[in-house]
Amino acid sequence: MAYELNKKLKSIEPYETLPVTSPVRLDANESCYNIADKIGDIIGKAVKDIEFNRYPDPTAKKVTEAFATFYGIKPENCTAGNGSDELIFLILSSFLEKGDTVVTLSPDFSMYAFYGFLNELKIRNLPKEDDLKIDVGKVAEYCNNNDVGAIIFSNPCNPTSLGVRRQDVIRLVKNVYCLVIVDEAYMDFWGESVIDLTDEYDNLVVLKTCSKNMGMAALRLGFAVAGDKITTALRAAKSPYNVNAVTQAAAAAVLNHKSLIMEYTAEMINSRKQLQNSICELSERYFTIEKVYDSVTNFVFVKTPKAQEISEKLLSRGVAVRYMGSYLRITAGTEEENSIFLREFREILSLL
Ligand SMILES: *Cc1c(COP(=O)(O)O)cnc(C)c1O
Repeated sequence: MAYELNKKLKSIEPYETLPVTSPVRLDANESCYNIADKIGDIIGKAVKDIEFNRYPDPTAKKVTEAFATFYGIKPENCTAGNGSDELIFLILSSFLEKGDTVVTLSPDFSMYAFYGFLNELKIRNLPKEDDLKIDVGKVAEYCNNNDVGAIIFSNPCNPTSLGVRRQDVIRLVKNVYCLVIVDEAYMDFWGESVIDLTDEYDNLVVLKTCSKNMGMAALRLGFAVAGDKITTALRAAKSPYNVNAVTQAAAAAVLNHKSLIMEYTAEMINSRKQLQNSICELSERYFTIEKVYDSVTNFVFVKTPKAQEISEKLLSRGVAVRYMGSYLRITAGTEEENSIFLREFREILSLL
């Protein structure tokens, strides 16, 4: 008898990424700087000192302390994960039970609904307003009237590049009974974080990643920041050796260089502002660009009915960007990468 996959597995496909061989990669919102160019020796030394025959520290103590120090918060509130991706899965699978309702907003990061589906949760996907902003009052009312177990959203949002102000996030957290998971993957490009409030609200979890402004996507490291009750449960539910020793050692070394990370972050914000201005200028001339959103992240979100065609043409010219339906998402790169993108983009627009 042939082995049969269940229905759930038959209906899913591997997460699609673009080929890593594109010379200009503006498709994954990564940092355009490799911090190892500056402090590679220090990272190398930290990795060399690892006892490779031993299991890693299950509490990831050193790197968790470095992370907490970076943000001026308490390490007791922080749980390390193998990317914040692992933490999203862990939270959805352990804080909710099969059939519980999780609210996602649309559009938002696709992994929330995917992990919700894998964990057999009921996913209620609430559409955002016409301008892609979030009406916090409406969302809170929905959560309270529909027996919702958790709401998860990214702030600022991937892919819309828009942010919800701290006051509004607080209003949501205060006014709902359910768990509120705020994914702040891009918050370092803005500054409306609620990471300092997890002791005040026992239904709040803030997710952070080292993959974006910190430039450590290769290492796979993220953190869940929450109060005692949630943190104790998370630590009990996680797999014991979830963050490997190379990641722990290398990331601790990087996190101790706060000013360097801040410098790169500032440069990426600058790069995004320039990219956004240039795309806005193009939108005045080429009406296929319907809208350029006001980004508070390291990427620019653009509405165009030709998104797919444009992204395919860009890719054939060596420039990778993301397209999603009638939108393009373009990560801010180095000055050179941005100018290559803009040159090719302008030419493609003029030929449409
Ligand atoms: C990139 C990204 C992450 C990061 O995930 P990691 O697993 O830490 O690399 C999380 N949430 C959002 C919204 C993202 O865009």
